[in-house]
Amino acid sequence: MITFLDLSRYFERLEQTAKRLEMFTILAELFKQADPAEIAPLIYLTQGELLPSFRGLQIGMSEKLLIRAIALGAEREPADVTATFKQTGDLGKTAEALLDGKGRHLSVKAVYDELVRTAGISGEGSVEDKVAALAELLRRVSPAEARYIARVVMGKLRLGAGDATILEALSVAILGDRSGKAALERAYNLCSDLGVVGEQLLAGGLKGVEAIHARLGYPIRPALCERLPTTEEIIGKIGRCSVELKYDGLRLQIHRDGDTVEMFSRNLERMTAMFPEIAEAVTRSLGAERAILEGEALAVSETGELLPFQVTMQRKRKHGIAAMAKDVPLCFFAFDLLYLGGEDYTPKPYTERRAKLRALLKSDPVIELSRAIETDDPAELQRFFDEAVANGQEGIVAKRLDGPYTAGARNFNWIKLKRSYRGELTDTVDVVIVGYSAGRGQRAKFGVGTVLAAVYDDRSDLFKTVTKIGSGFSEEELRELKAKLDEITLDHKPARVDSLMEPDVWVEPRYVLTVMADEITRSQMHTCGKEEGIPGYAMRFPRTVGFIRADKRAEDATTVAEVIELFDQQKRVKVE
Ligand code: ATP
Repeated sequence: MITFLDLSRYFERLEQTAKRLEMFTILAELFKQADPAEIAPLIYLTQGELLPSFRGLQIGMSEKLLIRAIALGAEREPADVTATFKQTGDLGKTAEALLDGKGRHLSVKAVYDELVRTAGISGEGSVEDKVAALAELLRRVSPAEARYIARVVMGKLRLGAGDATILEALSVAILGDRSGKAALERAYNLCSDLGVVGEQLLAGGLKGVEAIHARLGYPIRPALCERLPTTEEIIGKIGRCSVELKYDGLRLQIHRDGDTVEMFSRNLERMTAMFPEIAEAVTRSLGAERAILEGEALAVSETGELLPFQVTMQRKRKHGIAAMAKDVPLCFFAFDLLYLGGEDYTPKPYTERRAKLRALLKSDPVIELSRAIETDDPAELQRFFDEAVANGQEGIVAKRLDGPYTAGARNFNWIKLKRSYRGELTDTVDVVIVGYSAGRGQRAKFGVGTVLAAVYDDRSDLFKTVTKIGSGFSEEELRELKAKLDEITLDHKPARVDSLMEPDVWVEPRYVLTVMADEITRSQMHTCGKEEGIPGYAMRFPRTVGFIRADKRAEDATTVAEVIELFDQQKRVKVE
């Protein structure tokens, strides 16, 4: 049994490290001590959560309520707590400074269960009950533990341990080496729940992990597309393929279990309440009681025209859903079937999944099968692509006929070809902000002049810098960006960031920006693709397209391998 005090000491060590390898070693040491009943809570807490976000359980406490809970626990006035908070700037440290409990060596499980219970309190008077429950918990722990409880409650633990690092640490802790990593990743990609994967590993070893398959209620991590610059190269790579329209809307994964329909976004957030007409259409027209579908939801006009992304985006809202559903009706273009009646469909070939999907969809105004042709002729593919672009779509996705659905992976089973941006890169790059500098002159007044941006190296689970961006932001965006980044500043380089540059301020890698650049060049200054004696890669004349990508997590940024691929492709594309 691990006590919460032990865990707090581990958190302290994790917080102080600026090296990924050290972080990994500490995590492996921690997981080694866990028993099957506590591994899931341990993993969730390490990620600063009570459950994966798709489960929709949030503790739901504002700063103000936590201040009241600390005051109640410490038998002080809320004003005293606020005063200490002003000095420390951190409610964790505030709780630590003001509470003086002796601690009762509560187990991790006991603290976790109490936090889950508190999060679940609802109904009339629930706010007061939550404050009282948390105050009681704070009274029962020592100051060092209170620090971390307060941070978890505020969603500000921010240890920066990524999913891949946790999986690798689990493998080393339980199996003694990294040999289980691939199996653990496969399982995680199918259930998106590190706690479930950890539990299975501890309870049933690798066999237990291998038994994890797609299931209802657990979003499957999305399969992603590779890029190729021409239709000839696509056919050269995968031969005869299915070419689908690339709809420019919102990706949705739909889980139907009888009358219950759940929907998840690309980054696995629960979206069910937002799209009632799609939920209705699924219950009405899908010829299967239990299934997982994937597709793109798009606003359509009365005459059935596909409308631009910005129009669809108006449907992403928490309030006024019914009215907006009337004004901006959606159509769901289903493009994959991932599960059917108890069976995991992800390992099956594309043609089989598609045939089944077609057979299951009855004609319905709100759900349609994605449009596709099958071809091995680059010229025919080109015509389909040109037509798609002429109709305002982004391009096409070519799919390998015998390809399985590779959850959570980007590979050549799916290849995207987007309309090109003249004289520019063949695609935008999604970067994650890792720091910023104030900038000079005009910009200084916003506090953010340039942001230091990185791409993701999935092999090492590190963020590697690729560019500094100062263009493309409106004044309003700069202000908003500053406020957002202020919430996630760190006093040292984040452990998983690999950088030769030192921005004024480091931030937790969280916000993803889509960036267009003139080209990718070799660079000594950036760590993306840099190896001993070999220069890295950088983006030249970068500017942002749109603002923060709410549908992507830091690890969903473009990868180092993709940047290198784009570098190679720019030499192959004919300039029109
Ligand atoms: P990615 O999702 O590949 O990380 P991204 O979010 O920037 O990148 P794109 O590169 O533009 O998106 O293209 C991939 C996306 O295209 C998918 O995530 C999906 O939402 C969308 N899409 C639209 N039509 C299809 C289709 N027919 N098949 C697969 N994906 C499609």
